[in-house]
Amino acid sequence: MIGAGTMGNGIVQAFAVAGFDVVMTDVADAALQRGVATISGSFDRLIKKEKMSAEQKNAALSHVTTSTDIAAVGDADLVIEAATENLELKLKIFAQLDAAAKADAIIASNTSSISITKLAAATKRADRVVGMHFFNPVPMMALVELIRGLQTSDATYAAVEEAAKAVGKTPVQVRNSPGFVVNRLLCPMINEAIFTLGEGLATASEIDEAMKLGCNHPIGPLALCDLIGLDVELAVMQVLFEGFKDPKYRPAPLLVEMVEAGYLGRKVGKGFFDYQ
Ligand code: NAD
Repeated sequence: MIGAGTMGNGIVQAFAVAGFDVVMTDVADAALQRGVATISGSFDRLIKKEKMSAEQKNAALSHVTTSTDIAAVGDADLVIEAATENLELKLKIFAQLDAAAKADAIIASNTSSISITKLAAATKRADRVVGMHFFNPVPMMALVELIRGLQTSDATYAAVEEAAKAVGKTPVQVRNSPGFVVNRLLCPMINEAIFTLGEGLATASEIDEAMKLGCNHPIGPLALCDLIGLDVELAVMQVLFEGFKDPKYRPAPLLVEMVEAGYLGRKVGKGFFDYQ
């Protein structure tokens, strides 16, 4: 595992519970310590709810080792990259992984917005590069979008499909394209909710209430945007807008302005709703 952040430690947890040996790597030692603590805390909550025993926790944790050295991927059959979302960084990491990983290892990225085809082209094993797009929080969310780049082979796809199922996830096959499937549908819906708010059609609470009661959504689009982060929502809309050059993906002006103001949602205590 490359990256021990929000997604990295969640993915490590899923694989460790399923009995796979995992090396969690990060450039920051503190991130590794936080990652292990997060996994351990997650197991403790499961133990409290009697969904896991202390023995199972110890068994799962015994599958996890950590390293700040990328060379630690040398024995892995599957490398999953979930480092910070930045094209230059990921291109660099993919070139390093290509040199450090076994020749027949598969390299997957958990990227939300970067082209798998482009990452694959940074390696000499483009047929063994694929997207494994997990959802947050990983231990709770059933879906993994498996993204096929232009070069991804059938054998690579079949292997990651098997791996996804082995960790209890339900894979959906998606061709490489901006936003894949879930973000392509979800983020424009949230963006449209922000347009309706900006145009004064209804208040934030009313918009969310309408979508909860009218569409049976468990959470309203604006509360969901606060959870995801307004900066993240804006970044996805920019990727769709740039990727398709279609004005239907233009970010709502109110979204842009709220990000400028620093109202990024729950993580700062203020977004469309107040969390202080
Ligand atoms: P995060 O900021 O929580 O964690 C990123 C980690 O990567 C950090 O610990 C950082 O130290 C580490 N890192 C940076 N450079 C590195 C390097 N060269 N080698 C190893 N580690 C390095 O980010 P996150 O939310 O976990 O997102 C990670 C990836 O997952 C991104 O590509 C993002 O698009 C994707 N993703 C995120 C979500 C989400 O909801 N957060 C959902 C799906 C996919």
